[in-house]
Amino acid sequence: MPDFQQIFGQPPQTEASAPGRVNLLGEHTDYNDGFVLPTAIPQRTTVQLSLSNDSQHHFYSQELDQKVSISEKHPTTEGFASYILGCIRVLETAGYTIPPLNLYVNSSVPMGSGLSSSAALEVATLRGLRKLLNLNIDDIQIAQFGQQAEIQYAGVQCGIMDQMASSLADTNSMLFLDTRTLERRVLPFPAGAEILAIDSGVPRTLAGSGYNQRRAECEEAAKLLKVKALRDIADPQAVEILPEPLRRRARHVVTENNRVLEVLQGVSAIRFGELMNASHASLRDDYEVSVPALDTLVAMLQETPGVFGARLTGAGFGGACVALVEEGKADAIASNILTRYENTGNKGHILVPEIP
Ligand code: ADP
Ligand code: MG
Repeated sequence: MPDFQQIFGQPPQTEASAPGRVNLLGEHTDYNDGFVLPTAIPQRTTVQLSLSNDSQHHFYSQELDQKVSISEKHPTTEGFASYILGCIRVLETAGYTIPPLNLYVNSSVPMGSGLSSSAALEVATLRGLRKLLNLNIDDIQIAQFGQQAEIQYAGVQCGIMDQMASSLADTNSMLFLDTRTLERRVLPFPAGAEILAIDSGVPRTLAGSGYNQRRAECEEAAKLLKVKALRDIADPQAVEILPEPLRRRARHVVTENNRVLEVLQGVSAIRFGELMNASHASLRDDYEVSVPALDTLVAMLQETPGVFGARLTGAGFGGACVALVEEGKADAIASNILTRYENTGNKGHILVPEIP
């Protein structure tokens, strides 16, 4: 692959990186002002930057082997460049002056697997801009600018979790985040446990439309319950007055928020696993965002010795699942499960731990 010098004819002036993330608990809660519990993964996205010597921005992605040039003044663009240009444009809207740039992306975060390569790209880009231009912005603003870029320029109605996780989480702990107040707490992993994430190999085909529909259902449920957001309901009984399917949608959000809050009290790996299993059942039966392949994979994980618990992670409709397993056993458990999973006609692959 060509490097920065070969693409842009000059060396980079600076570089920055940011990790992907996996969400351990608190799924489909972030757009309900609720609670989430992601952790950073070892895979990262790196951007290298320099000032461009013409009046255009030039972006190159090593993964896509694609170069895009955009006039400094051109408001929008498409594809991967929209995430990067989006970061530039939201900074400009906030009053910063961004000169024409050369920006080179390379990443070990798999794209579209639910590990949030998009947020890693945004946070890495914003960190790179902060460094190159000495911008006075903090890590929370970076997350917020990244989210705005994704909503306004990539057209994805995302919550704040992915960018906050990429900007603030590390791989050695869990980041509890209140998505309404942005209050956060760094929590240790349950003792004796580590993370395993597996891609189901099922593409998230309905993810976009299904996601928007669930968002709309939650808004409707909150309206009927006369609260600002479902986060404001703590008692699962309160949703029983709602018509179906809103009752089950709201029940997922309320119980899921309670599961995350329980972790704040400090729980064992065994209890954490039970909460993950309950989260999966809720996502499958109440929120209806699972698919048979994910259910199969999660069930295989749940019945395997050494696994504390497992659930789908990310928006669902395909994509990945995450498990909490006994420390040191993730690789062995994964290879055993992947062989059995292949016998069901699907092909999965391990996402975390990172395969060197
Ligand atoms: P996820 O965030 O779960 O990986 P998304 O669909 O939200 O999936 O984001 C994936 C998109 O982000 C890609 O289609 C691409 O446009 C952009 N992207 C992420 N990482 C890179 C990269 N390394 N190079 C180019 N584009 C990237
Ligand atoms: Mg994304």
